[in-house]
Amino acid sequence: MKVDVALIHAPSVYDFRDRYLYATVISEVVPSLFVFDMIPYGFLTLATYLTRRGYKVGIFNLASKMLRDREFDVEGFLRDLEAEVYGIDLHWLVHAHGALEIAEILKRYHPDSKVVLGGLSSTFFRREIMTNYDFIDAILLGDSTEVPFLKFLEEGPSRAPNVIWRENGRIKENEISWIPNNLDEFIIDHRVLVKNLMRCRDLSLGVPFCSFIEAPIAGVITVKGCSFDCVTCGGSKFSYSSFFRRNRLALKSPQAIADEVEGIAGLSSMPIFFVGDLRYGDRVEEVSKLLRELDLENELIFEFFSPPSRKVLEQLRRTSHKVYLQISPESPLEEVRRAFGRPYGNEQLEKMVRHVEELKFERLDLYFMMGLPKQTPDQAHLVASYFLKLREISSRVDAFVSPLAPFVDPGSRAFVSPEMYGYEILFRDLESYRRALTSYHWKYSLNYRTVWMDRQDVVSSSLTAYEELNKAKLETGLIDERAYELAKRRVQLDREVLKYVEMGLPLDRVKESIEELAIKLDAEVKKSLSLYPTRDLAHCIKNPLLRGVVSFLAR
Ligand code: SF4
Repeated sequence: MKVDVALIHAPSVYDFRDRYLYATVISEVVPSLFVFDMIPYGFLTLATYLTRRGYKVGIFNLASKMLRDREFDVEGFLRDLEAEVYGIDLHWLVHAHGALEIAEILKRYHPDSKVVLGGLSSTFFRREIMTNYDFIDAILLGDSTEVPFLKFLEEGPSRAPNVIWRENGRIKENEISWIPNNLDEFIIDHRVLVKNLMRCRDLSLGVPFCSFIEAPIAGVITVKGCSFDCVTCGGSKFSYSSFFRRNRLALKSPQAIADEVEGIAGLSSMPIFFVGDLRYGDRVEEVSKLLRELDLENELIFEFFSPPSRKVLEQLRRTSHKVYLQISPESPLEEVRRAFGRPYGNEQLEKMVRHVEELKFERLDLYFMMGLPKQTPDQAHLVASYFLKLREISSRVDAFVSPLAPFVDPGSRAFVSPEMYGYEILFRDLESYRRALTSYHWKYSLNYRTVWMDRQDVVSSSLTAYEELNKAKLETGLIDERAYELAKRRVQLDREVLKYVEMGLPLDRVKESIEELAIKLDAEVKKSLSLYPTRDLAHCIKNPLLRGVVSFLAR
């Protein structure tokens, strides 16, 4: 296959198919499976932007393909994939291993093409990457790369902003100077994604994430940057201003948001997730009005960074027949929540829950985390008990818990000044992260411990919280016996794997359980623990011809 630009998404660990990797609860609260197979949203904006300017762009989700097809010949595929530029995301640091391995293979087979990284993590580690990995030709820097990528293609790195590259053995950098403050020009044309699927002729290679085929969901980014300063977040106000030169939010206008939604709705009835709190820029009323006018069949999901007022909820409730909400209180304890950077109390949260009940939202998802400042292991059981308390206010509440894992983000406050927040950061250089990702148990991938919890405490308390929360969900009828048992077996296996690893025993004896519970059933566990709207991709597609093609490819 030949394209101008090949955008490639790697699994977190390149050779995960040959290793006993056990990640369980780490990826439980995101659509990705345990190798973090979801492409970054920027691939879609980049593909749209470059396609409209005449470039042939392909998006190839290797992580998804490798999950579906254990025999897929990755090297053979990369050898036969011809492109002028190969773009690999190293946005989330969890891809440090896979992204670099793929880059190395590409450079080996295509020495005359450019191999380029992009994303916040590669921006943060840019000097180290360019010094130590000579198979990387350049890194596109910052949170947005559409214009820099185009300039890079048209005029080369020296005339492009936001780029670091190698020239005659020397490292050169054009600092981040292109920082868009408005996202309207960078909306996604979802037909580009359809075209990509057709080009790949392979659903698992062309989808945004592996389980998209069974449970598709579309995202609309409404903002870049954040006004909050959650201490471990690499996308916080502090990180953006300190490392990515973003000092103000970049917003998408209500009309551009509605246009993007209309584009998705014209193609499919899949649920749509709005990334970012719409109260930024005071856009709720206008967005709500425009979405109502679209008379959507799609279910909608909105997220909030703090509890919204009743008025805001009333406006969003009218946007579709089914509306889901999400908020991350992180901890049932206000002191911990505030120490993390979420400045609101339980009274506000409970008021929101009451409004959700009265306004008949489809569901409110609450996200909790273990590994926070001021959090002690004995707080693990509080997640389930607080969840049950909130369920007394509304049966529309669901909850999820996961460890802060694997990494405190580079560039976050806790990464930069760990002692101020009670953290100790265990790895500093990228190579250590790359190695940590191949650990047999996720305990050894964790890049931190806190004054209140060591890595063992983070693992134990996360598993306890997860177990107890699932028990509470079973009791309240949110999940069935099978889902509960599956999740329980995964926790037991997690503990067993850790025991084997710590005793230095080979994992061969638990190989089959890992294959079954961690790999084959990962998607099923997540699906059964969540009440997300789940209609498969083919059923969501409106065009009968396209639906037929997708059904055929899905077989
Ligand atoms: S975790 Fe906190 S700082 Fe990071 S994006 Fe969310 S609200 Fe903003």
